Amino acid sequence: MIVFKFGGASVSSASSIKKLAKLVGATQKGELAVVVSAFGKTTNLLENLLLRWYEGSTERFEIFEHLKKYHFEILNGLIPSNGNQIYGDLAGLIKTVEIKLNSVPSADYDFEYDQLISFGELASTRIISAFLNSVDIENTWVDARKWLRTDNVFREANVDMEKSGSLLRQIIPGSLNGIWITQGFIGGTIDGHTTTLGREGSDYTAAIIANLLNAREAVVWKDVPGILTADPHLFPWAERIDELSYQEAIELSFYGAKVIHPKTIKPLQNKGIPLFVKSFADPGGSGTVIHEVDAPAGIKPILIIKKEQMLVSLSPRDFSFVVEDCLSRIFALFFRYRMKVNLIQHSAISFTICMDNKSPFSGQLLGELKNDFRVLYNDKLELITIRHYTPAAIGEHTKGCQVLVEQRSRNTAMFVVRPQSG
Ligand code: ASP
Ligand code: MG
Repeated sequence: MIVFKFGGASVSSASSIKKLAKLVGATQKGELAVVVSAFGKTTNLLENLLLRWYEGSTERFEIFEHLKKYHFEILNGLIPSNGNQIYGDLAGLIKTVEIKLNSVPSADYDFEYDQLISFGELASTRIISAFLNSVDIENTWVDARKWLRTDNVFREANVDMEKSGSLLRQIIPGSLNGIWITQGFIGGTIDGHTTTLGREGSDYTAAIIANLLNAREAVVWKDVPGILTADPHLFPWAERIDELSYQEAIELSFYGAKVIHPKTIKPLQNKGIPLFVKSFADPGGSGTVIHEVDAPAGIKPILIIKKEQMLVSLSPRDFSFVVEDCLSRIFALFFRYRMKVNLIQHSAISFTICMDNKSPFSGQLLGELKNDFRVLYNDKLELITIRHYTPAAIGEHTKGCQVLVEQRSRNTAMFVVRPQSG
């Protein structure tokens, strides 16, 4: 069997979904599992909706209308007939969101997050499944919440591989010759609550399926020609990389390359399943393959830039040393607010953390840290990581930037910088 994964950018409009149909239709060689993300930027929209709901702001109804319009527009572009069952299904899903928005959210933000945000994947997979059936690409819609069993760490759930495997084998269509469609990113607890696996988690879902069903290969379809030496949207000189070892792919995703969700590689590596990253616009292109291979010699520098970074420096108010006990308190707080820590630097009396500053809870986190620490911070920063760095690459990519923190290991150089214009 094969697993295909389509991210938001490859399912952002009726026309892109028609391309998906072509790819899926052309791959009738045995069982095919298709993992799909929410349409376009729907997850961001839903996150915004959730915040407005918690604030009690009426803006939530505008966002809701937008969400509804966007999904019906795509559906209209795919299945014009109002008589199709999918129109009722989509209306039903949308109704659940509307009912929520008219109620008072519970105190458990992470729980509510997963219940609301999962709308994106539930709706996208319903629509795509119905469309494929309408163009005679027969398939079965499979509810990931029924097989991808997780614990109840909402927003960052941990997967029970063993249980998920036995549930999946019970649930998937009996014949091993079918196409089935399931949601990326979401799962379910033993009590039937919806969970999510962390932002961009659909790749991980695809890898889990591949592992559990011993797939021959997994393919992630993207809007770029494969994995490149930099983000081609920002750096036109970026070059495609033909192949990467599992280890290198793990390193790249760890440092924030937006190619693959960091948890994706392990389940594939454990079973030696190759992962192809291919262009949705150019399916015949070679893409990048991630597999068991010795690190190729002379690998070019790979540039990874993370924007919207904040650098936080903490020193204990009583000037005591930053020791283990203190560190574990710091990390527990970061986890509670689901903050992504990208770099740490530690001295005897201070601790510096570079983190993503996209969360609406940064302020709250800093507030709590201030109870125990003297807190200094800088925002609007960037984190530049250069894998396989050379002096020339460092010179070029940090030119004109003010470097606030620098770290180098044998293969990786990292710089927290204030960008030129900032
Ligand atoms: N839709 C989710 C997100 O945008 C999951 C994914 O796309 O992988 O984070
Ligand atoms: Mg996405």
